[in-house]
Amino acid sequence: MSLLITGGTGFIGSHTVVELLALDKDIVIVDNLANSSTLVLDRIKQITGKTVTFIEADICDRQAMQQVFLTHDIDAVVHFAGLKAVGESSTMPLSYYHNNVAGSITLLQVMAEHGVKNLVFSSSATVYGENNPSPLDETMPTSATNPYGQTKLMIENILFDLAKSDEQWSIACLRYFNPIGAHESGLIGENPNGIPNNLLPYVSQVAVGRLAQLQVFGDDYPTPDGTGVRDYIHVVDLAQGHVKALEKLKDISGCVPINLGTGNGTSVLEIVNTFKDISGQDIPYHIAPRRAGDIATVYADASVANNLLNWHAERDLATMIADTWRWQSQNPNGFE
Ligand code: NAD
Ligand code: UDP
Repeated sequence: MSLLITGGTGFIGSHTVVELLALDKDIVIVDNLANSSTLVLDRIKQITGKTVTFIEADICDRQAMQQVFLTHDIDAVVHFAGLKAVGESSTMPLSYYHNNVAGSITLLQVMAEHGVKNLVFSSSATVYGENNPSPLDETMPTSATNPYGQTKLMIENILFDLAKSDEQWSIACLRYFNPIGAHESGLIGENPNGIPNNLLPYVSQVAVGRLAQLQVFGDDYPTPDGTGVRDYIHVVDLAQGHVKALEKLKDISGCVPINLGTGNGTSVLEIVNTFKDISGQDIPYHIAPRRAGDIATVYADASVANNLLNWHAERDLATMIADTWRWQSQNPNGFE
């Protein structure tokens, strides 16, 4: 039996593949390389000494997906494949709805045709919208403020309806908070195209000299130092959450939303100062206006993951930043 990992050459997917290979799982990756490179596969082999089956295909391509299920004995799917840039989703909404929503529907249809009804889905804390107070828990109402968030919400709703219609489905809908960090080897990590949108890739590219200075978006939020607070989680902890979710699928009937966060909030300036201390590099920054759509404080109530999956994040902020810096300094231009 094999696990199908869509988007498995991406940031979170590659770290999850490493954790699954450590457990001797047989892995099939499907990725269209829209935001990743096959060089990741060599790095995964260097870390684990093991190989995976890699299929370059688009989840929207029904025939290609059918071929995957015909030629491999797939037991469960971890579905990471998707476009994830919030700003770009507002300028290219059709691409985002097509890729993320239509692609997921195609994947789900092909899974159903082949009787594969075990799924772990990459959702996001973005589905909590802007009106819920932190800590955010899974019972809170969901909403979305941009097309990317809408795609996650739509897919979640599709999954809830699907699981209601057929009790054979077991689905863990994992709502990630802010994944950062990298594998401790420094061989795999986050490798965004172009100018990064997210804080950590931006800070690490300033530290390595690729970008001149950070803009801190707002210092007048109602937070201890006025800058935005987020729940940063080490990508390896997140990957291990997927392993636990896969193990738990046999006990899940239906679709269960589960937060994957630490439960702690960290401000932008705390990130900058910790990064500076750990890397020994200067991180020039200036205060810029608030970024549209940002909210002051977002962190998880992680109790469902603790209780249901017997999982909690183990790595602290210093480890997250040390691992980010090791990856960035060893690979100043990413995988290229
Ligand atoms: P990533 O871009 O590094 O990985 C996604 C992978 O999916 C890439 O390798 C890309 O090439 C592939 N892909 C995209 N569209 C595809 C398609 N149609 N067919 C096949 N492959 C396709 O992103 P990531 O950070 O690893 O995120 C993985 C998942 O987690 C995404 O669904 C993302 O929305 C979700 N998520 C990410 C974050 C985050 O901050 N990184 C937060 C919450 C949720
Ligand atoms: N942020 C910032 N400068 C940047 C990128 C992000 O000040 O160049 C801030 C942002 O306003 C937020 C935090 O860093 O308070 C995390 O932003 P990110 O985009 O990484 O995650 P998200 O806002 O999607 O949770």
